[in-house]
Amino acid sequence: MNNFSSHLEHLKFRIRSAAEACGRDPAGVRLVAVSKTHPAEAVREVAACGQVAFGESKIQEAQGKIPILPASLEWHFIGHLQSNKIRKALPLFQLFHGVDDGNLARQMERICEESGRTCRILLEVNVSGEASKFGFDPGRLREVLPGLLALRRVQILGLMTMAPYSEDPLAAKPYFSALRRLRDDLRAQTGAALPELSMGMSGDFEAAIAEGSTIIRVGSAIFGERPKPPPDCQFLNFLRQIMDSSRGIMY
Ligand SMILES: *Cc1c(COP(=O)(O)O)cnc(C)c1O
Repeated sequence: MNNFSSHLEHLKFRIRSAAEACGRDPAGVRLVAVSKTHPAEAVREVAACGQVAFGESKIQEAQGKIPILPASLEWHFIGHLQSNKIRKALPLFQLFHGVDDGNLARQMERICEESGRTCRILLEVNVSGEASKFGFDPGRLREVLPGLLALRRVQILGLMTMAPYSEDPLAAKPYFSALRRLRDDLRAQTGAALPELSMGMSGDFEAAIAEGSTIIRVGSAIFGERPKPPPDCQFLNFLRQIMDSSRGIMY
């Protein structure tokens, strides 16, 4: 028995409270329910509670799910898009959150041109500078943005970021405010509106709302924890443990 509906209600209450606490209209914060790793049936149940926007991070997984779900749903790609997957991805998603490379955006433009499409994207920024994170360096983005705004079929709606993982829900605040300030600078520099700020996940969306987030991407607070790694990994870890513990006996 899933509690999706009560999770969703509780989440919406927290979103409303966070928006009101900083004098924002809760309608200005859109919720993308991140359904990666969860089966289509779970998406169907959450959609039945009135949720429309869902997020996926792998093209192959999305190809298995999106076509068998109601066409009224809206899909967001929140992962790292590889250029060889652009053609498959374009018809599936209404917004691409994680575009982190000018060449990728230009390839999307070219393939949109060929297939008579347009697409909407957010540029991912690595605000924290962590080596493990994808995203434009903020200085680099200032240089390349004017060129990317000239693309005709790829429409840049704003910026996206992920804060470093932390147990402290407020630790992410400085990263979110840095993204908003960068957006304000880029807006002044280029004249582009860049209305969307995609920031905030299950652990930090309240801080993101306080810093001006317009789209939050929330998975585990709705669907519960994601499934553990596949059993073959667990089995390998188990073997490793046995080998490690037997070393003392062997030598
Ligand atoms: C998985 C994921 C999320 C959702 O994370 P939760 O902590 O489950 O809310 C949000 N954004 C991105 C980019 C993700 O990969």
